[in-house]
Amino acid sequence: MAAVEELAVDFPFAVSVRRNAFARRIRLNVHPTRRVQLILPKRVKLQSGINFLQEKIEWVSEILAQYPKPEKFKPGRTVLLQGRDYLICHSRDVSPRPVVRSGHLYVGGSWDLVHHSVVTYLKQRARTVLCEYVDEYSETIGKHVDRITIRDMQSRWGSCSGKKRITLNWRLIMAPSYVARYVAAHEVAHMLEMNHSPRFWRVTEDLYGGDCTPAKEWLKANGQRLMQTVL
Ligand SMILES: [Zn+2]
Repeated sequence: MAAVEELAVDFPFAVSVRRNAFARRIRLNVHPTRRVQLILPKRVKLQSGINFLQEKIEWVSEILAQYPKPEKFKPGRTVLLQGRDYLICHSRDVSPRPVVRSGHLYVGGSWDLVHHSVVTYLKQRARTVLCEYVDEYSETIGKHVDRITIRDMQSRWGSCSGKKRITLNWRLIMAPSYVARYVAAHEVAHMLEMNHSPRFWRVTEDLYGGDCTPAKEWLKANGQRLMQTVL
């Protein structure tokens, strides 16, 4: 699933899809903030937009290469972890492996490695937390997941293959847990329903334990920020 409409393909950059009733043809906007927006006229199929985007991958990548990349994590900057901002502090007294303590993320080791340590920490937390959610939901429906992959996906939050393999975007660890839980429930629900039918949404909401709308809206509003935090 992607930020707004679901993209069935993963692109090498973050893309949000928007419908515009006034658009007369498919359009692509590449913003200096590195935001890539695919604009679809009202009645154009999403697949046509995906095909259009696939033809333009190189063009978009060339434009993006000219724009500044996001700043690296460093002491004094904040890092978003499960919906909360933590101030990064460097201290030679703590281990290189970051530690969360009262609103701060303490990172030890060499100053030059702070960015790397923070990214590694986020990915490890993502693996632990997201796998827990998937295990919990798959147990609830009594299905075995063959493989859970936590990796970087530039334009999607997760996917579920017919072979019972679930992939989740590590960036979800930055979102509040109710949002990451929703994506996990969504992908596990696909093990029962490989579509987005009303039945699928009933299964998802049953698993999730309530209305998914707030989580979906959070992703719509903040998803692009998560996709662009670290490249
Ligand atoms: Zn889906």
